Parts: sequence; structure tokens; C-alpha cells
Amino acid sequence: MTAPATDRFAAPRPTPKPGVLDIAAYVGGKSKVEGIAHPVKLSSNENILGCSEMARAAYRDAADRLHLYPDGKATALRAAVAAHFRLEPERLTFGDGSDEIFALLNQVYLEPGDNIVQGEHGFAAYAIGARACQGEVRFAKEPGQRIDIDEVVKCVDERTRLVFIANPANPTGTWLTGEEVRALHAALPPSVVLVLDGAYAEFCTDPRFEDGLDLARNAENVIVTRTFSKLHGLAALRVGWGYGPSGIIDPIELIRPPFNTSIPAQDAAIAALADEDFQKRSVALVEQWRPWLTQQLGGLGLEVTPSAANFVLVNFPDVPGKTAREAEAFLASKGYLVRAVANYGLPDAIRISIGLEAQNRAVVDLIAAFVGR
Ligand code: PMP
Repeated sequence: MTAPATDRFAAPRPTPKPGVLDIAAYVGGKSKVEGIAHPVKLSSNENILGCSEMARAAYRDAADRLHLYPDGKATALRAAVAAHFRLEPERLTFGDGSDEIFALLNQVYLEPGDNIVQGEHGFAAYAIGARACQGEVRFAKEPGQRIDIDEVVKCVDERTRLVFIANPANPTGTWLTGEEVRALHAALPPSVVLVLDGAYAEFCTDPRFEDGLDLARNAENVIVTRTFSKLHGLAALRVGWGYGPSGIIDPIELIRPPFNTSIPAQDAAIAALADEDFQKRSVALVEQWRPWLTQQLGGLGLEVTPSAANFVLVNFPDVPGKTAREAEAFLASKGYLVRAVANYGLPDAIRISIGLEAQNRAVVDLIAAFVGR
């Protein structure tokens, strides 16, 4: 526990503000397993195809400019994103990954005692940033591992400043239709910011899905965030962006670290956006293997949550020898890293990123051996 604020000045050493030491730090997907030199990493929803060759070339070209500060306004990237998505450039903000935009939103809106609302299995970064601002985190029930609008609205009170919804969601992979998102927005007070996190938006190809950009264009309390980490395979470079009304974007710009996206990251992102072929191949791979994995793992008697993202969530029985934790350990011992998600309130599930054909087949064979089929 941290010391009460009044005792902090008298303390013998610097003391973090209340709540900080109670935060559970973000846990990333495993990338190593003892005794296996090159495991297959299916634990962080990265792009298994790598990234665009054009993006790689742009990154290499930037090597000659490492002594320079980047353009703090990311003008060229701003223009490229605006053109690609038909958005007003001045209504964009860029982050060191979309993670940074969540942190900045929390900083802009939360006073101690204010709260954010997210799904009970929602992405961890929202809550960490809120708690760092001494905000409370309210978890809306997700029946069937899916966001339920009424449950979200039930959690909102006069101290709610932000509602974070990933669509599709991580780690469940479930999603809301455009109609549902609009209904959620209509049910929220106009003072509450609705954050629509579209990190996996490109992988949801159902015609009922809407990316929320139109809503953010027309409403004063909606921001959409997107990332170059997933579809574009640039997770290492950390580039995300947000689009919203000036009432939300302008205050973010006031506190955003001035050089938060680097020259190599900006240049590679511009090139990635232009490589439609790579984007198509990335989506096609997911569209081919996601239903296959769902069907095959379902055939092994496991419940697979219907996913619209580049991963599947597989639910295991709570039976010793058959649990999700043991499945994760078994797959790791065979060189396949997946993600147990107990820290997302899902102790009986593992999340598996979609891999290449041979990897997907190997995962199914290994899980079949694990469950004894
Ligand atoms: N939102 C969700 C739902 C995610 O799963 C992730 C990455 N795991 C992010 C945002 C963060 O992405 P970025 O790399 O842009 O920070």
C-alpha cells in the first residue's frame, strides 16, 4: 500500500502517489521458452507475415536521419492517414502505439476519484493508465464473453469520464455491430468520452461492422484509435493514431510528448499504408485460418469464442490435467507460445494468434494430443 498523501512529505524517502504501487503491471505475451531456440510466437497477436517490404525499405532509409528529431506533428504521416481514411488531418493525433493515446486520454480526463468503464475482460492498458491518474476502473459484465451495452451503461455514473471499448475486443475476439455501437453512444451522457479502440478493426470483415470513424466525425464525445502494430505488422515501431473532434484531440495535443513517434516509425507507417497488397494478404490469411482453427478446435470438444480478430480464444475445462494453464505449458514445451489470459478474468482460456498454415495445423495437432483425441 502507498502512504496517504499527507504523510508523503514527512516520509524518509520519495513515495509514489496513492494507488501506483497497487497497479498490476502489463504482462506481455511470452517470447521465450527454456531449451527451445526459436519458438513459434503466437502469444501477442502480431502479424505472422512480418511487415510490408516497402515499410522495411523506408525504415532502412531512415537510418541516415537518426541524428534528427522527428516532425513532432507527423505531418507526412498525418496526410497519408487522412487521405487513406478520408479524414480531416487536423483531427488526428499520433501516439507511441495506440497505448499512449489511451494513457493521454486518461490524463486529460481523469481527476482522482473519477472513473472509467470497460468490459470485464477488457484490454489491460486502459485500466493501468486510469489507475495511474488515481481513477477508479469499473468492469462491465460480459455475458458470453461479449460486451453488453446495458451492462456498460449500468456502470456509468456522474464520475464516469471515459468508456473504453475495443471492437473487436482483445482477448475475446468478440465484436459489436455498428448498430450496437451507435446504441451505446446514444445511451451515454454527452460528457462521457466513448473510446472506440479499433486495433483489430481490419480483421472484422462482417458487413454489419462499422469502424466508428463516422460516429467520431459527427459526435463530440467519440474518439477512434487505430494502430500500425497488427494489420501492418509494425508492432516494434510503436505507431498508433486517434481520430476525433477537436474538443478531444486538441487537449491531447497539449500534453502529448512532442516527439513521440520516431522518424523510422513515421516513414515505415507511411509506406505500410500504401502497400495494399500486404494488407490484403494479411487479412486473407486470418480469414482463411480463423474459421478453420475455430472448427478444428471445436471438433476437439473445446469451446472456441467466435472471433473477428487475428486470434482465437479457446476455453478449456477446469479439470486437472486438462486446464488452460496446462495447455499453455504443454504447447510451450513443444515450441508454440500462446497466451493464458487468467489476468483478463478468463482463467480457463488461452488466446492463440493466427499463424501460417503449418503452424496452425501443428497447434491443432498438439492440442488434440493434449486433450487426448
Ligand atoms: N488495443 C488492443 C485491444 C490491443 O490488443 C492492443 C495491443 N495488444 C493495443 C490496443 C495496443 O496497440 P499498440 O501496439 O498500438 O500500442
